[in-house]
Amino acid sequence: MKDNYESCMLCGKPLVYFTDAREMTCAVCGKKFMSNACCEDGHFVCDSCHSKKGRAVILHYCLNSDSKNPVFIMQEIMKNPMIHMHGPEHHVLVGAALITAFKNSGGQIDDFKNALEIMDLRGGSYPGGSCGLWGCCGAAVSTGMFVSIVTKATPLTTKSWGLSNLMTSRALAKIAELGGPRCCKRDSFTACMEAIDFAAENLGVQMEKPDDIICGFFEHNKECKGISCPFNPNYKGRTSSGQEAE
Ligand SMILES: [Zn+2]
Ligand SMILES: [Zn+2]
Repeated sequence: MKDNYESCMLCGKPLVYFTDAREMTCAVCGKKFMSNACCEDGHFVCDSCHSKKGRAVILHYCLNSDSKNPVFIMQEIMKNPMIHMHGPEHHVLVGAALITAFKNSGGQIDDFKNALEIMDLRGGSYPGGSCGLWGCCGAAVSTGMFVSIVTKATPLTTKSWGLSNLMTSRALAKIAELGGPRCCKRDSFTACMEAIDFAAENLGVQMEKPDDIICGFFEHNKECKGISCPFNPNYKGRTSSGQEAE
């Protein structure tokens, strides 16, 4: 099966989105789902089938990484062709990279493998397209899941409950500031950078934070914001020193 970057996994044609959900049958697993998207030829692939291989790649990489830099971890994993240009595997990727870098930076995690598996379950159940359809990007939610997992938050806890929701809100605000259209790479980088600061401020763990991020994937994204995206090599706000201009 050919793996495409931003189009139909089966035939490569562009995806079309509807404002109303319709019942569709997944062309891979045959199960029926309500969905807002299919390709121009009507192919529909469910979130689970779309992200299954990518999620396995994420867990395998994270289990074997000793990096303290969650952005580096994400960028390395994104190079794997099983990670699509856009897709709900990013809802697992952001949190898994953060859990890994957090642990490697001295953060307390009792059972690392179990933490990654919980991340995979939670992130993997967050639907694709929620950024535009629910007003809550999955890359931001993934940072909230990261904080929830490392602080052992539940719906009944007090401080950790607050921290988890605060994390999601901070990442979401940064993502919103840049405006759409969606880009799973831009949103993942933005959410992850905010989570690095959040963990230093609130969890007492300083992960490594890159000065600047250059996206290696923009050429595969026909909706890339180009010079308006802070991670595009031609970003209008970047100075020669690599720092963002005021
Ligand atoms: Zn198709
Ligand atoms: Zn399926």
